[in-house]
Amino acid sequence: MSIKTTLVASSRINQVDFNNIPFGVIFSDHMLVADFKEGSWQNAEIIPFGNISVSPSLSVFHHAQAIFEGMKAFKNNQSEVILFRIEDNFKRMNISAERMCMPQIPEDIFIDGIKQLVKLDRNWIPTAEGQALYIRPVMFSTDTAIGVKPSENYKLIVLTMPTGAYYTEPLKVWVETKYSRSALGGTGYAKAAGNYGGAMYPSKLALQNGYHQLLWTDAVNNEDIEESGSMNVMFMFNDVLVTPELKTSILAGITRDSILKIARDWGVKVEERKITVSELIEKYRAGIIKEAFGVGTAANIAQITTIGHPDIIMTLPAIQERTFSTKMYNYLFDLKKGLQTDKYGWLTKL
Ligand SMILES: *Cc1c(COP(=O)(O)O)cnc(C)c1O
Repeated sequence: MSIKTTLVASSRINQVDFNNIPFGVIFSDHMLVADFKEGSWQNAEIIPFGNISVSPSLSVFHHAQAIFEGMKAFKNNQSEVILFRIEDNFKRMNISAERMCMPQIPEDIFIDGIKQLVKLDRNWIPTAEGQALYIRPVMFSTDTAIGVKPSENYKLIVLTMPTGAYYTEPLKVWVETKYSRSALGGTGYAKAAGNYGGAMYPSKLALQNGYHQLLWTDAVNNEDIEESGSMNVMFMFNDVLVTPELKTSILAGITRDSILKIARDWGVKVEERKITVSELIEKYRAGIIKEAFGVGTAANIAQITTIGHPDIIMTLPAIQERTFSTKMYNYLFDLKKGLQTDKYGWLTKL
């Protein structure tokens, strides 16, 4: 399917300093838009990036029926444009949509539309190490009535933006022992907008205390490790890769899934299981925590060097000693650059 395209009158690309790209503020020339009304998706088109005009009664402002996704496009060493696991982002967008009582998005709008959009703005894909074109689909409710009920109208917009490294230094994370990001049965497994608004206040407190991010714990006892910021979290306990098992309070990250698959193929012992804060402290005291890192599309692999907790500050081994995550980072990097065979079928070439 070819989506109707209206090109910008003049590109803004020459105004961008690709050596200095702050995250999420510079948008490429075009965006994909589509509307859901009268029971079906319509008006899918690619138009110049720009403001939209909406009513103050737009239902999303009042009750946050809004979901998003995040993925990246790269250029490999042959200058071909690569999307990484876009099918999985498509599936997860629709899982989030179901949880938030929003319509399913068809593949020919989401996948074909994104392919066409990225192809059109391919000059916006930066190529230095750690850089990529970040793709942000967002869907929100557009009824102009504020009754608390599922909207009948929705808008999908896909923005793209060049990005550099998300974190520029290793992370200090604080174990959250009071607030929660999500609870069992809640919306934590969906990329639902409200989850992120709700996380801001406790994250701000951590930042004020000199930490970059929180290490979220379960909502009942604040004892089981869940995630870190908007990343899944992994540990090397000696030579075993350990990560919290998925449940409805945890977002099933595609980076998490990729790393677990590759690690198992490498013959690394992998455990997806409950990790309590007490176990973490015990393992730290015994010198068993060799590596800790967050994993996600935006941040790739983000090394965690300090884990703070009211009872103890855990200082973890130096980055140079972290053989597993360094090898994994390099493998994923090479895979996207076309230097490894795509044996999992994760790459889509445009
Ligand atoms: C997006 C996200 C992740 C990482 O998912 P990826 O698919 O790897 O990008 C992890 N946790 C939360 C809460 C997220 O929103």
